[in-house]
Amino acid sequence: MLSDEQLLRYSRQLVLPELDLVGQERLLGARILVVGAGGIGCPLLWYLAASGIGHITLIDHDVVEAHNLPRQVLFDDQDIGLFKSQVAARKLANHYPDTSVAAICGELRHISELPATHFDLLVDATDTPSAGRILNEAALQREIPLLYLAGVAMEGRLFVAQGYERDKACLECYLGKGSDPRAGCATLGVLAPSVGALALLGATQVIRLLLGENLDGLFCIDTWRFNTLRLQVRKDANCTACGFVAKE
Ligand SMILES: [Zn+2]
Repeated sequence: MLSDEQLLRYSRQLVLPELDLVGQERLLGARILVVGAGGIGCPLLWYLAASGIGHITLIDHDVVEAHNLPRQVLFDDQDIGLFKSQVAARKLANHYPDTSVAAICGELRHISELPATHFDLLVDATDTPSAGRILNEAALQREIPLLYLAGVAMEGRLFVAQGYERDKACLECYLGKGSDPRAGCATLGVLAPSVGALALLGATQVIRLLLGENLDGLFCIDTWRFNTLRLQVRKDANCTACGFVAKE
């Protein structure tokens, strides 16, 4: 049940038939895990909290550095040297009282480091393929969607992994076939508004998934040339992560 303040705050979203009161209540009750408070994580977290996602757990091990500031819009010069997850949680709490953010400072190296809490959705906003594989393993075990977001230069990729479904691919089905573009950020560079655009498309997909809408396949965007592409990612029967599901 929304309070009078919430009815006013979210009134423009409530008008949307895709959300309505029921959808907004679902967002306020949602629990998601975001790993990575970088160029994708920062705008994603801003807009998820602004939209009224109720509970966010954020994992990040980095401290804020000067070269982060152009695209990691939760941070400013005063935050340099501080842990990103702690700064992000504080700033989001100051701006969006309906969202509780639990910050975990640490590098995700093993699945056992993930909180046992129930999550409706996992988001891989890291720049490390190894963290993505751990999240994929968790998503398969818990049978919840994993949203993968990767941006480099002026390009972005968005993929919803649902390998626990008999006919849907997991993140390994996708990553196993080629290189992960995220590895090239330091050498190839990244344009701030480009990665921001990808992050906000990701935030929209989080909301859609929480409301029971689905997105099949891989979405690619070249923000410089304004090209987009949708590709099917087939479930790999020999996938080392979800293959056993396909053989059942
Ligand atoms: Zn798979």
